Amino acid sequence: MSKLIIANWKMMYGPIKAGSWIRAFRRERLPKDLEIAVAVPHVSLPAAKASLGRASVPVLAAQNVSWLEEGAFTGEIAPSMLVELGASLCLVGHSERRLLLNETDEMVAKKAIALQKAGIRPVICVGETDAQKKKGKAEVAKVLRQQVQAVLGGLDWDDEKLQPVFAYEPIWAIGSGKACPPQEARDMHECIREIIRKKLGDAVAERVQILYGGSVDPRNVADYLSTTHIDGVLVGGASLDPRVFGMLCRAASTA
Ligand code: PEP
Repeated sequence: MSKLIIANWKMMYGPIKAGSWIRAFRRERLPKDLEIAVAVPHVSLPAAKASLGRASVPVLAAQNVSWLEEGAFTGEIAPSMLVELGASLCLVGHSERRLLLNETDEMVAKKAIALQKAGIRPVICVGETDAQKKKGKAEVAKVLRQQVQAVLGGLDWDDEKLQPVFAYEPIWAIGSGKACPPQEARDMHECIREIIRKKLGDAVAERVQILYGGSVDPRNVADYLSTTHIDGVLVGGASLDPRVFGMLCRAASTA
């Protein structure tokens, strides 16, 4: 399976800048052995789609969704609306939402299920805080177990096109420049895979894609992708400049 590289602009780039980012990124020499996606603010999806034209790379992703389909829910965006806007992936449970907006495991699970039902692959973000890390590996494993187990139940694992993706993002590594050493990330990815194996069996555990996120850049990306259990990366800061992200994609390629 191709490695999956997802850019996360966070709350950056409205429609005008989104359009120019996509056009600039399309001018980059992009490797063919990767799946490349870009998670953009909802309002920028139409401009990103228009700038893509008929091109299929990068695929479009959203950064959040409601678990509700329709009704009196002011300000919310339904999964079917994201489908109309051309998103084929969507992040859920990013730590910034869990920490700043009190998103719970239960909400994350409902969002992931609603996305799949609409035909969008959920990218479920999990990871420990600095304080939890300082308590040791057993504590980190406990945090991951709780976050991962909370979403496993209601998801569809049979539809290959809609396979849920996990992103292990230690919160202390996000935007800090202190990337998690690849071997440490490897252990946590293995831990996530084993949690999945216990609940859903070998076949699902072997095919589930688990991405690493946290201060990934063009210099360190290959170290992650050459490490067992790491199936891709989720990239914040280093995705904001299309040339830097293009460089990162080339460094990620084994072709
Ligand atoms: C992120 O926002 O998910 C992220 C990993 O950010 P950064 O790459 O900047 O650490």
